[in-house]
Amino acid sequence: MISSISERITQIRASLPPSVRLIAVTKQMPTEVIRAAYAAGIRDFGENRIQEAATKQGELQDLPGITWHFIGHLQTNKAKKALEQFDWIHSVDNLKLAQRLDQLAPQLGVNPQVCLQVKILPDPNKSGWTVPELLADLPALNQCKSLQIQGLMTIPPFGLNDAEIFYVFNSTQKLAKEITEQDWSHIKMEQLSMGMSGDYQLAVQAGATMVRLGTILFGKRT
Ligand SMILES: *Cc1c(COP(=O)(O)O)cnc(C)c1O
Repeated sequence: MISSISERITQIRASLPPSVRLIAVTKQMPTEVIRAAYAAGIRDFGENRIQEAATKQGELQDLPGITWHFIGHLQTNKAKKALEQFDWIHSVDNLKLAQRLDQLAPQLGVNPQVCLQVKILPDPNKSGWTVPELLADLPALNQCKSLQIQGLMTIPPFGLNDAEIFYVFNSTQKLAKEITEQDWSHIKMEQLSMGMSGDYQLAVQAGATMVRLGTILFGKRT
C-alpha cells in the first residue's frame, strides 16, 4: 500500500502543472498514510474535522514542514481551534465566521491564510456565499485585516456533467478576476482552491492553483 501511494503521488504530481499546489486530503485516513505521502514529498495536507486532525497532528509532530489546510465546514465555536491547528482555511463560508477568525487571529498570534467559499450554482447541501452575497460582503471582508484573504474555493454541486462542472470552475475564476479588478486593499484573489479527484482536470483547465485530492491518491475512504 505504501509504495502504491508513492507511485500515485508521483503520477498525479507529474500530470499537474508545476504551479498547481497539490493538497493531499487525508480525512478518515490513518497517520501511516500521511507518513507515506510525506515520504513521497507531500507537505500540504487537508483535513475536514478539527478533532480528527488534532489527534493526527499530535502523532505526527516528528514530521517538520507540514502545512495544514482545513477544508471542512467550520462552526464559529471551533474557530479558535481551527486557527491553532491549521495554516490555511479554505472553507470560510460566511461573514460572521470571517469576522470571528479576524478577531481571534491577533489574540492567538497567528496569520491565517484563507479562501472564501463560493457557490456558483444553488446547492442546498453546501455552505458558502452566493455570488451576489459575496460581492455585497466584500467591503466588510476588506476590514478583516488580520486575515490573509488569498482567493476563492468552490465545490460544484453533485451530479453535474463535465461542461457544467467546467462552467462552475470557470465562473469562479472570472469572479476572482472581477474582485481583483475592484482593487481591495486587504483581499487578494491569487488562489483558486478547486478540483477534487473526479474533476481536478477540469479545475486545472479553468485556472485552479490548488487542487484537493483524496481518493485518487489514497483509494476509497471506508
Ligand atoms: C473530501 C474532500 C476532498 C477530496 O475529495 P476526493 O474526491 O476524495 O478527492 C476535497 N475537498 C473537500 C472539501 C473535501 O471534503
